[in-house]
Amino acid sequence: MQIEFKNVVKEYEAGFAVLDDVSFKIKEGEFVFFVGPSGAGKSTIIKLLLREVSPNGGDILFNDESVLGLTLDETATYRRKIGVVFQDFKLLESRNIFENVAIALEVVDSPTYEIQNVVPNVLSMVGLTEKMFKYPRQLSGGEKQRVSIARALAHEPDVLIADEATGMIDPDSSAEVVKILEKVNSLGTTVIMATHDEGIVDRLKKRVIRIEEGRLLSDKKGGKYRG
Ligand code: ADP
Repeated sequence: MQIEFKNVVKEYEAGFAVLDDVSFKIKEGEFVFFVGPSGAGKSTIIKLLLREVSPNGGDILFNDESVLGLTLDETATYRRKIGVVFQDFKLLESRNIFENVAIALEVVDSPTYEIQNVVPNVLSMVGLTEKMFKYPRQLSGGEKQRVSIARALAHEPDVLIADEATGMIDPDSSAEVVKILEKVNSLGTTVIMATHDEGIVDRLKKRVIRIEEGRLLSDKKGGKYRG
């Protein structure tokens, strides 16, 4: 199994569980929606998976091995297996699009030839070859989100996580972003999308895991936003 949460409990404050006994498994190559109201615990699941926070109970496994005991070095290597796209893009305004994507590779000291090779590839994958030397302020919200997807793909992650990735863009741009996520998924990458967007969830008919008040309420294949 690629990802497994086993009876995970998370408390930010002692005695107040924001995740309570959450268990699920995700296979390599799946496309999974996490839905539920704001404050339900979706981002906490993502932070736990990224090892940004630690659980108070239970276990989290990646490729059948617990990630809870990883050293700092191992955690850095592990995180590169998971690309993340956020609602607010997190682009640097002072850098052009090429440079914004290159950052992902520079931070791990990738050689220049690799950067020159990978960056145009991932930008072409999201349909932004023409915008490579523009700056974020010259792009629409949807285009900025595609840049952040390209940046997340730079390490060829096994898993791509989109945390409310369509939350700040218009419906047409959202549809394009979703199309790219579907394409990435069709090439074998697991895609996990936390979203409030009923339209997207209902249209795609993928697996839907519903979280409410820190509990896993339902887990359905070909599900709908409202069950
Ligand atoms: P969602 O992503 O579904 O909106 P979150 O995982 O962000 O939900 O939040 C789940 C609960 O945990 C909320 O009640 C939120 O207020 C709380 N929470 C999130 N982060 C922290 C934190 N760093 N410290 C304390 N409480 C937090």
